Amino acid sequence: MFTIGCHLSASKGYLHMGKEALSIGASTFQYFSRNPRGGAARPVDPEDCAALRAWMADHAMPVILAHAPYTLNACSADPALREFAENVMREDLRTMEYLPGNLYNFHPGSHVGQGGETAVEQISGLLNRVLWPEQQTTVLLEAMSGKGSEVGRTFEELRAIIDRVSLQEKMGVCLDTCHVYAAGYDVVNHLDEVLAAFDRIIGLSRLKAIHLNDSMTPFDSHKDRHEKIGAGTLGADAIRRIINHPLLRDLPFFLETPNELDGYAAEIALLKSWRED
Ligand code: FE
Ligand code: FE
Ligand code: ZN
Repeated sequence: MFTIGCHLSASKGYLHMGKEALSIGASTFQYFSRNPRGGAARPVDPEDCAALRAWMADHAMPVILAHAPYTLNACSADPALREFAENVMREDLRTMEYLPGNLYNFHPGSHVGQGGETAVEQISGLLNRVLWPEQQTTVLLEAMSGKGSEVGRTFEELRAIIDRVSLQEKMGVCLDTCHVYAAGYDVVNHLDEVLAAFDRIIGLSRLKAIHLNDSMTPFDSHKDRHEKIGAGTLGADAIRRIINHPLLRDLPFFLETPNELDGYAAEIALLKSWRED
């Protein structure tokens, strides 16, 4: 089964997103756990959550992904911002227990001058305070492009964070194709080698989701500018190889390309046409 979806607005609730995903040919979706640039959470509506769970079961949607807000910085130099990040993640993960068995993705953060090692300690420390043994959500570190002082550009750095987490079975990684290409992993010309490196350094069993994006910027540019599928520096052929690669094809793919709903519908149809049996 090809699990493909895109980023949807959560403003009309959970069940609405399930229906919207189906209406554009998607078999999964991603949404922001709360306003991406703000802080306050939407109140939890257990009935809406239950309705989405039933909808997902009825329509064979295997897994969905909640994306933490961009304002969450677990390795900020400002202790108040680290505390904010911790409170947001703790609250988001409690909310996600209404939708058990899904994925919660966050950007490791930007260390803003503190250095990578301090950041790794701060991020893993936060995870050790918010994860709990009974939680049913898998928390994903997103592989980043390395713009500014972003943490998580290298597989080694992602591994270092996971290594310091006690409840490692709750942890996974989300590969963003735009980010990793801009980070200096050549998924266009050396996809097999990149996946072998991922396996050696992190372990492919940790890879739980793909953010499927083309990129506006060149290889190793350390920039983060998503492009429509086939219109960027990765290009159609590379993306076709990614969605069909034996080590990737069974993962859920989430588009975060610059599109409205109709554009996403068209990209999903295109990707389905590229998918090999
Ligand atoms: Fe992201
Ligand atoms: Fe992403
Ligand atoms: Zn990005």
